[in-house]
Amino acid sequence: MNTEILKIVGDVTADSAGLRRAANIIKRGGLVVFPTETVYGLGADATNAEAADKIYSAKGRPADNPLIIHVARPEDAEPYAVLGDMYYRLAEAFMPGPLTVILTARDTVPSKTRGGLPTVAVRCPSSKIARELISLSGVPIAAPSANLSGSPSPTSARHVIDDMMGRVDMIIDGGDADIGVESTIVRINPDDTLTLLRPGKITPSELSALGAKVDISDAVLDKLPEGQVAESPGMKYRHYAPKAPVVLLDGDLEKIVKYIINDEKAGHNKAALCYTEDMEELSHRLPEVYLFDLGSRSDALERAHRLFGSLREADKHSFDIIYAPLPEKCGVDLALYNRMIRAAAHKIIKL
Ligand code: AMP
Ligand code: MG
Repeated sequence: MNTEILKIVGDVTADSAGLRRAANIIKRGGLVVFPTETVYGLGADATNAEAADKIYSAKGRPADNPLIIHVARPEDAEPYAVLGDMYYRLAEAFMPGPLTVILTARDTVPSKTRGGLPTVAVRCPSSKIARELISLSGVPIAAPSANLSGSPSPTSARHVIDDMMGRVDMIIDGGDADIGVESTIVRINPDDTLTLLRPGKITPSELSALGAKVDISDAVLDKLPEGQVAESPGMKYRHYAPKAPVVLLDGDLEKIVKYIINDEKAGHNKAALCYTEDMEELSHRLPEVYLFDLGSRSDALERAHRLFGSLREADKHSFDIIYAPLPEKCGVDLALYNRMIRAAAHKIIKL
């Protein structure tokens, strides 16, 4: 298939003809990759089962992993999901923004879009390009991350082009994603408590500040035992993994250096993701190891912004192994922890 690349620089109104073309593709049941503030999304008309099906094929995504539907305004989800008081409290606090809410679906959302579940995931992105595209399309846009299934999510148009050229009708290049990790996903339970299904920029403590009780689904922090059903189906799949094996090291810098030097069975071509503050010291102590600057130890947002780009960059070299420090389990670091244990297929070494 021929893929048009539409570059939008600055104000979205600068290319309204291009965005109208993109919206027409969505209306006709085609696929458009568009930028959001979290990562790039692979979009299709959420109300059209055949269009949603094309998303699964283009990504190679398992059919039981449901899609998030994107709306231009929180209240636009009304025809597609049962919205209660808690939804509007969350919307007031965090929308438009990087929050996805799981709600009871109405049958206007085809089962294909929902991965066969009775619920539907709703998000109102803050990206102007995304909101304009949804408004012009006149339908909610189903959009998972625009990567091939299993790969790190795309945070720049270059990443999207690498994965999706020839698989979609259009790619809108809106520059680098602001946040760089996917949205926080919460389910609203019948008693109005919240369950965190995927951590993101919006943290559990920001959610509890609303007065709601928030618990964290088991799959966020651990590997699910064989046979247990994932509350968010995406959490059970291998994810974010570069080609080389990733190993997470849980210990201080001294122990990490010793481990990397002594890890002889790992092969010669080693890489390490490290904090900016440690880059200089490590370049002297580990001269044979290729170092990636993850961002500052004290700035989880910067590290979130860089993580997927670094994992993709690592794929351009044929490393035998990639080491990374284990992130904390709080604040925005919880999102990094959740993504990195998946990139590492849960291989954590306690030093
Ligand atoms: P992606 O947009 O590729 O980051 O993936 C969307 C994520 O949302 C996946 O992890 C899905 O499992 C999750 N998701 C979508 N719909 C639902 C739902 N109805 N219930 C629980 N999780 C969902
Ligand atoms: Mg994804």
